[in-house]
Amino acid sequence: MIKKVLKFGGTSVGSIERIQHVANIIKKEHELGHQIIAVVSAMAGQTNELIGKSKAISDEFDKRELDVLLSSGEQVTSALLAGALKKIDVKSKSWLNWQIPILTEGDYNNSRIINMNVEKVNEFLNNNGVAVIPGYQGISKNGDVTTIGRGGSDATAVAVAKIFNADTCEIYTDVDGVFSTDPSKIPLAKKIEKISYDEMLELSSLGAKVMQSSAVQTAMMYNIPLEVRSTFTDRKGTKIFDQQNIDYSKSVTGVAYSKDDAKITLIGVADKPGVAANIFEPLNKAQINVDMVIQNISSDNKTTDVTFTIKRDDLLKTKEILKNNKNVKYKKITYNDKVAKVSIVGAGMVSTPGVTYRMFRGLADHKINILAISTSEIKLSVIIDEENTLNAVKKLHTIFDLD
Ligand code: ADP
Ligand code: ASP
Ligand code: MG
Repeated sequence: MIKKVLKFGGTSVGSIERIQHVANIIKKEHELGHQIIAVVSAMAGQTNELIGKSKAISDEFDKRELDVLLSSGEQVTSALLAGALKKIDVKSKSWLNWQIPILTEGDYNNSRIINMNVEKVNEFLNNNGVAVIPGYQGISKNGDVTTIGRGGSDATAVAVAKIFNADTCEIYTDVDGVFSTDPSKIPLAKKIEKISYDEMLELSSLGAKVMQSSAVQTAMMYNIPLEVRSTFTDRKGTKIFDQQNIDYSKSVTGVAYSKDDAKITLIGVADKPGVAANIFEPLNKAQINVDMVIQNISSDNKTTDVTFTIKRDDLLKTKEILKNNKNVKYKKITYNDKVAKVSIVGAGMVSTPGVTYRMFRGLADHKINILAISTSEIKLSVIIDEENTLNAVKKLHTIFDLD
């Protein structure tokens, strides 16, 4: 008997009619004789709305209480889906994080799933029931409700697939699969039939929110094949699996972008050993993630400029830390929070010369200025002015034959 994890995202469960539609999809799968565990997100917009409510009380709303609040969105859809299944004569039951339990560790709002108790759910599956599990939430060792980071229902689905030893993990969403870039912004985007874990991991970490990156990471680590497909069409989706099975005919597989970056430049920093460490040590301590770093060659052998990028949300905190850092002297600090990161990703880049040049030439031809660059074996990212984002994505999509 095949055991399937089916995950339904926020838009897929965004209304009562849609939940009923999802119940019908599940019923069909169940009637084929499969064991089904459904993992659900909150209704589209619900998590943002709850965050808004917490902010109306305080910008620094208590993190423990925030997790109690945010997990309620997935509680609602779990109950509605299990109820909708029962209504169409499918035996079903929902469980909350603490009832299974879904054990997590790590900070509030950003925990990781470490284990689940499979007994009760497996027993129910063996008795021909469909289990409904809320995404995005868990319970810590000391009994507090936790959440696992935005978009985390994907990570719940992959963890459930692993821990319950499922045969497949299908991610149902509002687009037909993973595209060469965001299809809601670039209509010329093309659906990708199959993609390697590595490429998917880069794309999702660089802004393609169709799969949450930590979910892809877990799938890669345990070799759990994923399929991303649409709740609203019957079209074939995108298969994500181990890269050995994929033929790379194109150098670039996809273009991703994120608009949540900020760039900081320290002008006139002493050019001597230890300075970079002194700049970044307190940022590291404050858990601020530094993405790209550029240090100019010193023209006078005394001072240099250091530029780096961070998440825009961390800008205020970073400025404060730099201001209070007595170990670093500089003449001036400038920052720009209207920047975006545009990236090309492709395992085929390794064996294709000239990709870097084509990217830079293409952007230059369209008068798009590059503010910072970072590369890895299968990706190339540039920081540009935010207003040029979609234009750059479109151009790169065309240059690398993805339209
Ligand atoms: P869900 O609520 O189902 O988890 P998300 O909103 O998290 O759905 O992710 C799906 C969205 O991801 C799509 O609607 C699309 O706009 C966006 N997206 C961004 N990049 C891509 C891409 N490369 N391929 C497909 N979708 C993408
Ligand atoms: N509801 C959560 C969020 O909006 C989790 C998810 O949808 O995957 O981030
Ligand atoms: Mg999502």
